[in-house]
Amino acid sequence: MPIQSVNPYTNQLVRSFEEDSEEKVNQVLELAEDTFRFWQNTTFAHRRELMKKATKVLLKNQQKYAQLMTLEMGKLLKDGIEEVKKCAIGCEYYADNAEKFMQDELIQAEGTRNLISYQPIGAVLAIMPWNFPFWQVFRFAAPALMAGNVGVLKHASNVPQCAMAIESVFLEAGFPQGAFQSLLIGSEKIETLISHENIKAVTLTGSEGAGSTVAQLAGKYIKKTVLELGGSDPFIVLADADLEYTAQMAVKGRMINTGQSCICSKRFIVLESVAAPFIEGMKKYMLQLKAGDPQKADVDYGPMAREDLANELLEQVKESIKKGAKIITGGGRINRTGAFFTPTILTGVKPGMPAYEEELFGPVACIITVKDEAEAIHVANDCKYGLGASIWTKDLKKGEALARKIESGMVFINDIVKSDPRFPFGGVKRSGYGRELAGIGIREFTNIKTIRVK
Ligand code: NAP
Repeated sequence: MPIQSVNPYTNQLVRSFEEDSEEKVNQVLELAEDTFRFWQNTTFAHRRELMKKATKVLLKNQQKYAQLMTLEMGKLLKDGIEEVKKCAIGCEYYADNAEKFMQDELIQAEGTRNLISYQPIGAVLAIMPWNFPFWQVFRFAAPALMAGNVGVLKHASNVPQCAMAIESVFLEAGFPQGAFQSLLIGSEKIETLISHENIKAVTLTGSEGAGSTVAQLAGKYIKKTVLELGGSDPFIVLADADLEYTAQMAVKGRMINTGQSCICSKRFIVLESVAAPFIEGMKKYMLQLKAGDPQKADVDYGPMAREDLANELLEQVKESIKKGAKIITGGGRINRTGAFFTPTILTGVKPGMPAYEEELFGPVACIITVKDEAEAIHVANDCKYGLGASIWTKDLKKGEALARKIESGMVFINDIVKSDPRFPFGGVKRSGYGRELAGIGIREFTNIKTIRVK
C-alpha cells in the first residue's frame, strides 16, 4: 500500500509520502532505546504532569485533528471531535491511575517479604489501523508511556498525517523526543522492526490476516504480542426486548463509524416471534439516515474509508445474495463520487454465506432468525470471532446469565458495545488475545517480576 492521504469523499489524492529509509528506522530505534534508559526511571509524578499536558494539547487542537481524520478516512467531523475528546479522557485516566496499577503487590508467604513488581520493558511497536486513527493509538500510548515504556508507531498507510499529528501531541506536551515516535513504512518492512533487539513487544490492532502474520514474526523472535483483531459481534434480541428502542440501537450499533468498527453490532440474532417488527423498526431507522459530506453537522454517515474497501464489501453482499440472502433495504454502492455504501439489511443469512462466516466491515446488517434462546446462543458462538456481544431483554438476570455463555471478551446488556478506559477491552478466538485499557491493559507490557526475601 502506498503511503498517502486520499480523501474518500472525493477520491482525490491529497498528499503522498516517501517511506522512511533504513537509516531513519535505525535512528528511531536507537533513540527509542536511549530514551527508555532514562524514561523508565522517571517518577510517576513527572509522567503524570506530561500526560495531563497531552490532554490539554488534544483538547486545544480537537478541530484540527478531527479534520485530519475526515480528510484521510472519511470520519464524520463531529465523530472525530468526540474521538479526540475520548483520547483526552484516556490520557487523563492513565495519568491519574497508572501509579496505582503499577504498585507492588504483596503476597503472604513464608519469608520476610514477598512481592510482585511491575516493571517497564522498553520500546513497544504499535501497528495500528485507520478506523479510529487517534483513539486506537492513544489507548496503547497513554498506558505504555505512563508505565515507563516508549512507543514506536507504524500506522495504517492511509492515515500518515494522523500518525504525524499524534507524534506531535506528545512532543508539544513535553515528552522526550524518543518517547513516542512514528515511522512511515509499509507492512512488508515489519520484520525489520520486530526482529530488532530494541523492540521488546508488539501490539497490533487490525485484521485477522495482519494479526496472524505479526504473531508469526513475533513468535520467531520471541516477542510478546497483544492482538486486537476483527469481530462479527452478535446483537441478540430476545422476545421481551423493548423493540422500538432495540431497533433504534441496532442501527446505531451497526452504523458506528459508517459500519467500520471492530465492535459494531454485525450479526442480529432475533427470536422468531419478534423478528418482523424488529426488522421493520430497523428498516425505518436505516432509511432516516442521511449520506453526505462528512464535514457537515447534519450528515449521519459519510463515505467508507477507501474505495477498495467499499468494493470488497459489495462483493461480500453480492455473494451472500447469490447464496440466498434477501435485501430488505440498501444493498450496494451509492451512485455518487466517493466511497459511499448504502446502509443495508440482509435477511435469511445462513451458514456458508460471507454474511454469516466473515466480518462485514461496513454498513451492512445481517439478520439471523432463531426459534429460541438456546439457538440464539448457539448461533452467537458459531463464529470464528469473539470480540463483543450485546443482549437485549427486560429480564436483566436472564441477560447476565446468557452473557456468561457467550464466547467473547465483552458482553453488554441493553446497550451497544463501547470501549471505556475503566474496563478491559479485547477478544477471544480469532478476535485476538491480550487486553487493552484498565489496570490489566497497562500491565500487558511489563515485566511481572517475583521478588522474594528470605
Ligand atoms: P489491516 O489491513 O489489518 O491493517 C491494520 C494495520 O496492520 C495497518 O497498520 C497495516 O498496515 C498493518 N498490516 C496489514 N497487513 C500487515 C501484515 N501482513 N504485516 C504487518 N502489518 C500489516 O486492518 P484495517 O483494514 O486497517 O482495519 C480493519 C480491521 O481491524 C478489521 O478487521 C477490524 O475489525 C479490526 N479492528 C480491530 C479492533 C480491535 O480492537 N479488536 C479495533 C479496530 C479495528 P498497512 O496499512 O500499511 O497495510
